[in-house]
Amino acid sequence: MSDRPHLLEFERVNKYFGETHVLKDIDLEVDEREVAVVIGPSGSGKSTLLRCTNRLEEIQSGEIRLDGTPITAPDADVDRLRQRIGMVFQSFNLFPHKTALGNVSLAPIEVKGIPESKARERARTLLERVGLGDQTDSYPSELSGGQQQRVAIARALAMDPEVMLFDEVTSALDPELVGEVLEVMHDLADEGMTMMVVTHEMGFAREVADTITLMADGELVERTPPEQFFDQPTTDRGQQFLSKLL
Ligand code: ADP
Ligand code: MG
Repeated sequence: MSDRPHLLEFERVNKYFGETHVLKDIDLEVDEREVAVVIGPSGSGKSTLLRCTNRLEEIQSGEIRLDGTPITAPDADVDRLRQRIGMVFQSFNLFPHKTALGNVSLAPIEVKGIPESKARERARTLLERVGLGDQTDSYPSELSGGQQQRVAIARALAMDPEVMLFDEVTSALDPELVGEVLEVMHDLADEGMTMMVVTHEMGFAREVADTITLMADGELVERTPPEQFFDQPTTDRGQQFLSKLL
């Protein structure tokens, strides 16, 4: 057990798409500074779990809390919550007609009302942090997929989130570009960012995760430290999942 406070709490979370029960009584706690890697077969509910956390999807019962505040309450301030919870997707969705600097500084200016000069200065710092200090004036079309995804991470960080959600952010990248994005995420973890990371990159999971959460068929199957998970998963489904990776 860790003595750090829980930053994210999921309590008996249920989500349906029509008749389909996609998240089944999910109980999960993510501590401050924890890197929680979420794995599981396609269709097991990983993306839905992250999307509910950012209120891109609504849950039908249960509760998700951020630092004690119910995210899922009907009267929750969704805009404010999305500032506190950064999310990066498989597709980068950068604004094509804005430079890297423009993409990263836009929301702080428009949403947070930060003065333009200050927002641009901070965007420059963030782009340096993801290794793109020399690409601030490049447009997305001039950047590789790995560089675009790093801009997307910088853009999420620009809102000063308390937690970052990553949904298969390297899955659309050419293999040779995966490493540079994982490295940025590794750095973020080292700096103490609280992160929920859905990924198929088992090397990253083993090295960077504090906990591995395995989902299958909408259920949270097991949640263990990576050493234990990769050595000897506690559940049959964990062992099945692992055996398919080998
Ligand atoms: P994963 O990310 O683990 O692959 P998802 O969370 O995307 O899984 O999907 C979980 C289940 O929910 C799947 O059965 C999927 O078909 C279903 N699902 C996801 N999004 C929708 C949607 N918008 N409408 C209907 N069903 C959906
Ligand atoms: Mg998914």
